[in-house]
Amino acid sequence: MRIDLHTHSRASDGTDAPAALVRAAVDAGLDVLAITDHDTSDGWAEAAQAAAETGLTLVPGMEVSTRHRGRSVHLLAFLVDPTYPPLAAELEQVLRGRASRVPAMVSRLNGLGIDITEDDVRRAADGTAASGRPHVADALVTLGVVPDRTTAFDRYLGWGRPAHVDRYAAPLEETLRAVAGAGGASVIAHPWGRGGLGRPDEATLAELQALGLTGIEVDHQDHDADARDRLRSIAQNLGLVVTGASDYHGDGKVDHDLGCNTTHPDELARLLEVADRTAAASGRVTPEVVNR
Ligand code: AMP
Ligand code: ZN
Ligand code: FE
Ligand code: FE
Repeated sequence: MRIDLHTHSRASDGTDAPAALVRAAVDAGLDVLAITDHDTSDGWAEAAQAAAETGLTLVPGMEVSTRHRGRSVHLLAFLVDPTYPPLAAELEQVLRGRASRVPAMVSRLNGLGIDITEDDVRRAADGTAASGRPHVADALVTLGVVPDRTTAFDRYLGWGRPAHVDRYAAPLEETLRAVAGAGGASVIAHPWGRGGLGRPDEATLAELQALGLTGIEVDHQDHDADARDRLRSIAQNLGLVVTGASDYHGDGKVDHDLGCNTTHPDELARLLEVADRTAAASGRVTPEVVNR
């Protein structure tokens, strides 16, 4: 069983359409895939239909942009009802923040003498609700300003670079409660990754667990072997679910191929058990796991 629980499609900043992501997962020999676009469930329907035509098991999820103690935290929310009002309201606010950041980034780039327009970014974002820095990067590639996304982040868009603009992120503690209220299960993505929570320790993770956190993503490209060992032992001490995933973005991110990290089947079973329990307690209508 090969299980990859964190991937992106064109519904946010991946480069594969949701159906193409599902086909790529089958080609990569995966048995279970979670689609987890940034701050949106827009890719779920297309991915579910594509998965139903294959044997692939599909877990609908999303990666919510949150903030905790001033730092960015990416929270994977699996099997949530995206219409649960407290969650929907936060997502709407994050998406509004993403949209209003585009003109600010364009104007910073113009100030650097780069001839880029909001329309260039809109074309690169191609209808996604979750426009982000990767779409600005793609527009810069199209314009011939940089050769690839990585260079665009290194020169202009990364933290501390001249066209970096901050945006709204949902408060983590409220989002943890909203995910539980929406009938889902939550996992902190790349908790010790670059630009993350500042390496939350066992005590911090225990506090977040008390607010409803289900698990942590241990096996991720941002974590070296030592970080993985230490996070795994924290998860074991606290009884948190341990996941592993590629954080695949299609051509948009190198060294993140589908299945490059995977989740153990026992851990997926624990995650789904929690989701079943929260769904029942919430009374919400949550999405089905396709081919469960
Ligand atoms: P945003 O959510 O718009 O602030 O953009 C952050 C997203 O950009 C991350 O979730 C990654 O998907 C992507 N990203 C961050 N750094 C890089 C990089 N160096 N190269 C390509 N993509 C990146
Ligand atoms: Zn992304
Ligand atoms: Fe992330
Ligand atoms: Fe991601």
